[in-house]
Amino acid sequence: MKALNADLHCHSIWSDGMLSPAEVVQRAHANGVTLLALTDHDELSGLPAARAAADELGLRFIDGVEISISWGDDQTVHILGLNIDPANAALQAGLQKVRSGRDARAADIAAELDKVGIHGAYEGALRYAGNPAMISRAHFARYIVAQGHAKDTPTVFDHWLAKGKPGYVAHAWATLEDSVAWIVGAGGTAVIAHPARYRLSKAQRREMFGAFREVGGRGIEVLSGTQSLDEAQEFAGVCREFGFLASCGSDFHGPGESWMDLGKLPALPEGLTPVWAQWG
Ligand code: AMP
Ligand code: MN
Ligand code: MN
Ligand code: MN
Repeated sequence: MKALNADLHCHSIWSDGMLSPAEVVQRAHANGVTLLALTDHDELSGLPAARAAADELGLRFIDGVEISISWGDDQTVHILGLNIDPANAALQAGLQKVRSGRDARAADIAAELDKVGIHGAYEGALRYAGNPAMISRAHFARYIVAQGHAKDTPTVFDHWLAKGKPGYVAHAWATLEDSVAWIVGAGGTAVIAHPARYRLSKAQRREMFGAFREVGGRGIEVLSGTQSLDEAQEFAGVCREFGFLASCGSDFHGPGESWMDLGKLPALPEGLTPVWAQWG
C-alpha cells in the first residue's frame, strides 16, 4: 500500500492563495497528496469547489479553515480548524466577524505606506485579492513587488509589512477561546498552525500551548513548509508532553511564492498520533 501523503494546510484565491480551489486540488493530486485539507484564512467559500474536484480525482478531502486570532500583546496567531462542518452557523458567523475588520485595516495600511512613498496600495492590493473581503498583507506584498519596490514578497514583509515596520497596522482578530469554540462547535479539530513562526519566547510558547489545550485545542503543526526539521523535533516533544495530536501542512499559497509546494513534506516523526487518526 502506498504511504499516506497528508497535506493539511494550504490556500486558494478565496484568501491569499493564487490558485482556484480546483487548481489547488489538482496540483496536490499531481504531487502525490492522498489526504488534503484546504485551509483558507477566515473563509469557507472555497470548500465546496475543492471537495468536488477532490471527489472527481478520488482524493480524500478534509474541510478546513485557518483562523486569525490575537494572543497576548498584539501577537497574531493562526488556529487551524480541520474536519469542520462548513455549514455550521456559529462558525460562519464568527468568521464573518473576523473578516469584517479587514477592509478598514487595509485602508490604514495603505495610508501608512503612502507616507513612505508607496502610493495607490489599497487599490493596488485589491487587484490581487480574489475575494475583496479577505484583502491581506500578502496582496499588498504582491502589489509592492509588481511596482518594483522589492524583489520578492518576503523582502516586502521585512521592509514594510512585518510588525514594527512602517506599513504594519495592529489589529484585533478573534480570541483564542472563540476560535477554538467555533471549530469544536462545528465538529472540527483545533490545531495551532506553524508554532515556530510566532515571535514568542519558549516560555511564552509553552504558555500558549497550555492555554490552547485548556480551551479545547487538540493539536499542533509539527511539520510546516515554514518550519525546520529541528523545529519538528522540538514540536514532537511538545506533542508528547502536552498530549497533542500531530499535524502537517505545506502552507502552500502559490507557485513560485511559497516556502514549499503541496505534498513535499517528509513523514511525521515516529511515535506521534497524527491528527487524522481520530477521523475514522
Ligand atoms: P494578514 O492575514 O493580512 O496579516 O496576512 C498574513 C499573510 O501574509 C500570511 O498568511 C502569509 O501568507 C503572509 N506572510 C506573513 N509573513 C510573511 C513573510 N515574512 N513573507 C511572506 N509572506 C508572509
Ligand atoms: Mn497566508
Ligand atoms: Mn498562517
Ligand atoms: Mn496558512
